[in-house]
Amino acid sequence: MRRKLAAGNWKMNGDSATLDELATLAQRHAEASVDLLICPPATLISRAVSCAGPIRIGGQDCHAAPSGAHTGDISAAQLRDAGATAVILGHSERREDHDEDSDQVREKARAAHAADLLTVICLGESLAQREAQNTLDIIGAQLALSVPDSATGENTVIAYEPIWAIGTGLVPDTDQIGEVHDFIRARLERRFGAGVGRSVRLLYGGSVKPENAASIFAVSNVDGALVGGASLKAADFSPIVSAL
Ligand code: 13P
Repeated sequence: MRRKLAAGNWKMNGDSATLDELATLAQRHAEASVDLLICPPATLISRAVSCAGPIRIGGQDCHAAPSGAHTGDISAAQLRDAGATAVILGHSERREDHDEDSDQVREKARAAHAADLLTVICLGESLAQREAQNTLDIIGAQLALSVPDSATGENTVIAYEPIWAIGTGLVPDTDQIGEVHDFIRARLERRFGAGVGRSVRLLYGGSVKPENAASIFAVSNVDGALVGGASLKAADFSPIVSAL
């Protein structure tokens, strides 16, 4: 049985004051029967760890190399050293803003696994790709290249985040979400075998809110959510956690 996961991606939002929201969440969900993860900006990771209670803290990216001359980057081992136990990789905003491709995402994921970080690998199609009915081809290609052979159910989570649903209030209908999640599950089982393929958790991300969380969580092969805007306030994230 896969344990449910509610993950929050603060992106380039939040400051010291936002840690109060994290502390509130930690109190409210001290006895949570699901896994919780918050990925704040790197500047907040150490302090977040000290007020997160049962909530895992993660980074939003890492470099593929363990150390070296890479100004502005952070290695997986450095995230681990700061107290993070997870990292988001291959988010569409990284792919877009920093020209990251799936080969780089795979190398980063390999480094994250070596540093013992839970790796949340993001996949998603653009609106043009969906309208051209290329969604499954795009997701299949991103999945094959972005996920390293070192993936297991313990160290890897896949997040399906349609780019057109991120921050827009648009959400695919539940059939569309189910189609992609079932496809990802089948591909994982084909590549890694039923044991690993069935144990990797699949998150949906893109405009998840308290109002739509329950219907999304009812879809087959949806094991939780990767939440952006609604993860910044305990009053928004908490009902999403409770809907899981
Ligand atoms: P929103 O929940 O703000 O749409 O963002 C989703 C996302 O990109 C999470 O990684």
